[in-house]
Amino acid sequence: MPVSDPLEFSLLPLTSTVNEHGHLDIGGCDVVALAEQFGTPLFVYDEHHLHMKCQEAARAFDDGVAFASKSFLSRAMASLAASEGLCIDVASGGEMAVALAAGVSADRIVFHGNNKSLDELVYAITVKVRHIVIDSFDEIDRIERLVDAAQPTSVLLRVTPGVEAHTHEFIRTGQEDSKFGFSVASGSALQAVERLRSMPGIHLAGIHAHIGSQVFDVSSFAEAAGILAAFFIPLGLDELCVGGGLGVAYLNGERAATITEWGASVRGALRDAGVPDTVKVTAEPGRAIVAAAAITLYRVGTIKYLPGIRTYVAVDGGMSDNPRPILYGSGYEAFDPARVLAPRPDCVRLVGKHCESGDVIVPDAQVPDGIAVGDLLATPVTGAYGYSMASNYNRVTRPAVVFVRDGQARLVLRRETDEDLMALEVE
Ligand SMILES: *Cc1c(COP(=O)(O)O)cnc(C)c1O
Repeated sequence: MPVSDPLEFSLLPLTSTVNEHGHLDIGGCDVVALAEQFGTPLFVYDEHHLHMKCQEAARAFDDGVAFASKSFLSRAMASLAASEGLCIDVASGGEMAVALAAGVSADRIVFHGNNKSLDELVYAITVKVRHIVIDSFDEIDRIERLVDAAQPTSVLLRVTPGVEAHTHEFIRTGQEDSKFGFSVASGSALQAVERLRSMPGIHLAGIHAHIGSQVFDVSSFAEAAGILAAFFIPLGLDELCVGGGLGVAYLNGERAATITEWGASVRGALRDAGVPDTVKVTAEPGRAIVAAAAITLYRVGTIKYLPGIRTYVAVDGGMSDNPRPILYGSGYEAFDPARVLAPRPDCVRLVGKHCESGDVIVPDAQVPDGIAVGDLLATPVTGAYGYSMASNYNRVTRPAVVFVRDGQARLVLRRETDEDLMALEVE
């Protein structure tokens, strides 16, 4: 496919349309107008898209399927996911506090982490979360002193099935050489099961495995499921959680499996391996729910032409609102939301405003011709691991987040201010 093609519509949120001005509308809102109203950079989330993906996840797995909040968390997001019947998976006391503040009931919260602090464990046990996911022998030692035989704490045991998912090394987690979980192959997973079963204050509800993130190949999940099943079946436990990790398309021409296909593939593999139908099969998608639900709107501030070398187009955000390119070398598309259907013949380097040469959003961005200072440029599929990984590098304030639906835009996270930056200063 020619690289100068317009952005593929399938990368945009579900309610996206082009209005009579040629502008992108999401949720019935003209995003060019949203940029005027709320300023830039701005994350725009399609609420309908979020609801549809949560519903799809709830249908594809059994009750207990959770939204992985680390991909994008705000009170509005947590309550939306919970309202669609999803549990919320948290990986720190901070994420747990936000989910609870959103009104999510503790018995719908699953608590993860490879190094939970004593305070975090006490917090989770006190509020009575649905499950604590046990990650290490040190954690078993810590939790043993906190639990109460009269009110056993429900746990899942996180294991590494020994599958190498085909994804970036930093987001691969299912292989033997991992900081997460107990190895099935070495026997430490079985040892952990025996220890937990000997503890009267613990109820071992099931087994958990997460093989990695942005996994495109559904057969990796099926393979992991087969290995897990062999370990799981003899234990006679109630729940098997296959984690998250389903990949999404970020670029024109990429295709990813749907949540429905992922669920069917995992369930099929578990059934084939002999896991009884009475077992609850759950999962924890993050990216697959939120990534394509949002775009980021930036405004172009500076253009530098280097004849014979390249053109740099600098926008008002960068690695502070999207660190994925610098962390993982992730690719994105760029487009002009004021002329969504335009061909994109010009190749530019789309960069941010940070004092760092690596602050690149798209190294070779195809954009419409004549992009000028003051224009908007947008990146699609930025709903996951953008805002949640945002930083204050260079003391740049974090963008605002709006949810759009039925022609209405509501601010769910306001733009950070200089006073917010000052709030931590003690002297
Ligand atoms: C990160 C993570 C997820 C979510 O991963 P996605 O790739 O966003 O679906 C789910 N479970 C665990 C344990 C994780 O660490």
